[in-house]
Amino acid sequence: AAGAPAANAFDDRALDEELRPSRLADVVGQRKVVERLEIMLAATRMRTEPLSHILLDGPPGLGKTTLALALAKELDVECQITSGPALAAPKDLLPYLTNASGNSILFIDEIHRLPAAVEEFIYPVMEDFRVDIVLGEGLNARTINMKLKPFTIVGATTRSGMLTAPLRDRFTFREHLEFYEEADLAEIVRRNAIKLRTKIDDSSALEIARRSRGTPRKSNNLLRWARDFATVKQKEGLITNEIARQALAMLEIDVLGLEEQDRKYLRTIVNVFGGGPAGLAAIAHTMNCPPDTLEDEVEPFLLRCGFIQRTPRGRIVTASGLNHLSG
Ligand code: ATP
Repeated sequence: AAGAPAANAFDDRALDEELRPSRLADVVGQRKVVERLEIMLAATRMRTEPLSHILLDGPPGLGKTTLALALAKELDVECQITSGPALAAPKDLLPYLTNASGNSILFIDEIHRLPAAVEEFIYPVMEDFRVDIVLGEGLNARTINMKLKPFTIVGATTRSGMLTAPLRDRFTFREHLEFYEEADLAEIVRRNAIKLRTKIDDSSALEIARRSRGTPRKSNNLLRWARDFATVKQKEGLITNEIARQALAMLEIDVLGLEEQDRKYLRTIVNVFGGGPAGLAAIAHTMNCPPDTLEDEVEPFLLRCGFIQRTPRGRIVTASGLNHLSG
């Protein structure tokens, strides 16, 4: 409805930094992924080699950056951070490569958006820690090889399907991050409430967890909103269950954690496209929203809820999706 703030108006990357668990042991959930990373870390330490290149994929806000930083901390090495769209040409990557100290980590977010020229430039880096720089043009062109210190690339992507096979294959270790269970999110909320010096009871932590769409970044944002709400509405600033419910209701986040944008997506398919199948581009156009946002941030959770299906002919709203809309 008009007037109410959108839930993502409270998105705040600075908050990510404040609440990030710094050690692998403090990472809640994703147990299998963390256990495998621990084995790799132990082997790396014994062999004193750099960690193998790692590809992390999954929807935004599930902890890809957190894991890369935690790995660097465990190895006591530095972690440089960049992203696919920031690396427009090979020369943009060069400073990171020459700065990379032995066994350190270079985190490349949105690696599926690396331009082709940068991708080709990165192959010899990943294989042999070597860069091939072409100087001059035509007959006068010469290639200079530069040797780099061995280091690790941790790539993150919300779309592993968009990665080319040669790039994907150069990551010896690939992990898919799944949405978090409610209990894990509730634990993250409790720990982060302590970091934010806010009192919250267990049922409120669970209430926030339940409405966080399986995503720790959402839990953090909702926790911060609930804290602000409690500061204003409750004498001691305590996040009680009643306060949490009121705070979440004001953001128009429903019992399953769907936000206005998610419901609008479902309504668009139902009302404009007769329930589907409807193509992503057409839905995005009607909603006046970039297709990438829908594909990365809206559809994965709706698919997980079983509210939509992706078919070769387009997206379809399922019977349970319809039910949720009318409920
Ligand atoms: P994006 O790809 O959008 O940058 P991301 O997957 O890299 O997202 P992070 O920035 O690592 O996500 O995580 C967002 C925030 O969620 C972190 O600051 C941290 O507070 C919290 N978080 C993520 N994963 C965990 C976890 N397993 N345990 C505790 N907190 C977590």
